[in-house]
Amino acid sequence: MLFVICKIFTMNNNFNSIRPIFNEELPQVFIETYGCQMNVNDSEVVLSVLQKAGYALCDSIEKADVILVNTCSIRDNAEQRIWGRLDVFLQEKKRRKGVIVGILGCMAERLKNELLDHPAVDIVAGPDSYREIAKLIAALDTGAKQINTLLSREETYADISPVRMDKNGVSAFISIMRGCNNMCSYCVVPYTRGAERSRDPQSIVKEAQELFDNGYKEVTLLGQNVDSYHWHNPENPTETVNFAQLLELVALIDPKLRVRFSTSHPKDMGNGVLYTMAVYPNICNHIHLPVQSGSDAMLLKMNRKYTREGYMQRVAKIREILPDCAITTDIIAGFCSETEADHQDTLSLMKEVGYDSAFMFQYSLRPNTKAARHFVDDVPLQEKTRRLNEIIELQNRLSLESNQKTLGNIYTVLIEGVSKRSAEQLIGRTPQNKTCVFDAKGYKIGDYVNVKVLSCTSATLIAEIVEEPEESSFLKKIDFNDIKNDIREIGKDLKEIITKEINNLKNQKNDKN
Ligand code: SF4
Repeated sequence: MLFVICKIFTMNNNFNSIRPIFNEELPQVFIETYGCQMNVNDSEVVLSVLQKAGYALCDSIEKADVILVNTCSIRDNAEQRIWGRLDVFLQEKKRRKGVIVGILGCMAERLKNELLDHPAVDIVAGPDSYREIAKLIAALDTGAKQINTLLSREETYADISPVRMDKNGVSAFISIMRGCNNMCSYCVVPYTRGAERSRDPQSIVKEAQELFDNGYKEVTLLGQNVDSYHWHNPENPTETVNFAQLLELVALIDPKLRVRFSTSHPKDMGNGVLYTMAVYPNICNHIHLPVQSGSDAMLLKMNRKYTREGYMQRVAKIREILPDCAITTDIIAGFCSETEADHQDTLSLMKEVGYDSAFMFQYSLRPNTKAARHFVDDVPLQEKTRRLNEIIELQNRLSLESNQKTLGNIYTVLIEGVSKRSAEQLIGRTPQNKTCVFDAKGYKIGDYVNVKVLSCTSATLIAEIVEEPEESSFLKKIDFNDIKNDIREIGKDLKEIITKEINNLKNQKNDKN
């Protein structure tokens, strides 16, 4: 372990440009991103590769020499949207000769030549081929369309510093792993993003440190299943880092760097992660724990590898160790053969957990998944929609109840933007990921403020900045005696070593200044 940590802080700390280069003299690239946060981060990797190859980002397809679309295959309507966009790009190609269109991401991986056959498309590049994107563009000079959809067992883009395209300059995503091994029967991700690979921790810590040094105040560690993050040193397989340890490494960068993560899996989320969250106030108290269904029959059919009881035990443990932790979820309505009783089980589980919010969808069959091959998509569309509406209606009630419980509480909020309704108001999120709106009072994006919740809707907390900070979750004092040491043994060593090394790094920086 010592080897790993020392290497983290002795790496060359030369940063590439962390923000896009806008230069109209250079070939212009426009990137449109659909789908999950992983795709957002992948687009930033693509921009990094292209910026190094001499391209600059532009803000519209009308200015672009190269139009790239990072796509999502998770539901059929996500794909339909992309087909619609291709018609728009075709018009642009007819208007301006020489414009190049490339399709990236899950849809590229899933549909391959079917996409390449579209008259608008010049390049099809799957999620593991972004390192090659400039070469694919250059190879169009041969006159042939280009495709690379090879999936890799190793690629993590660990050495590529993403060029950040976020608007606020305070929150960024860091991919800590790629792919998924879980094979949930409804899900296309294992086929489009390949097998699970964990990125080496030193490159993750370096990226987070680099973001913090450039003014970012929050990082979200991303993976399809962060709890199964497991890195071993290829030179010594006995040296390993698990997700709890990685969280600790990132949290130790600076108390003013907030750490979030997504997505957790109920079958893999261990107590070590919860204890680590309890120890470090800068790890936000929010866990996204997809349940998908409250029915054991459905969970089995979905191949989720936990039962309702097992899920509720995980929830109980979260409540025990992190009493003020928000829990959010994903729910699918109308999966294959779902009965009314199964649906009622989902509603009752939602009430039992009292989710703070949820992403809710009706089941959409994805070709080649286990569900498509072995089950019948037999819940009529009308019935799926009715069940989904009931789920949404219930969640709206639960979200309102959850928000009402915050009335009068004080939270530390990182200011992320200006309210759409008024330039005089700012928005930010509590550690529990609840959006707050409050009068600016001279504060700006990137500041931390303490806010008191005055009122709420099911989606938003209306708050005011309090000048005299009272006890808040971000400032709370941790009673280390409350933390059991069993799962954190390695963490103790890590903490000492890293604190020392971070201090060294800071001293070196101060000396340079
Ligand atoms: S955990 Fe399941 S739902 Fe999530 S990406 Fe993997 S296979 Fe898909």
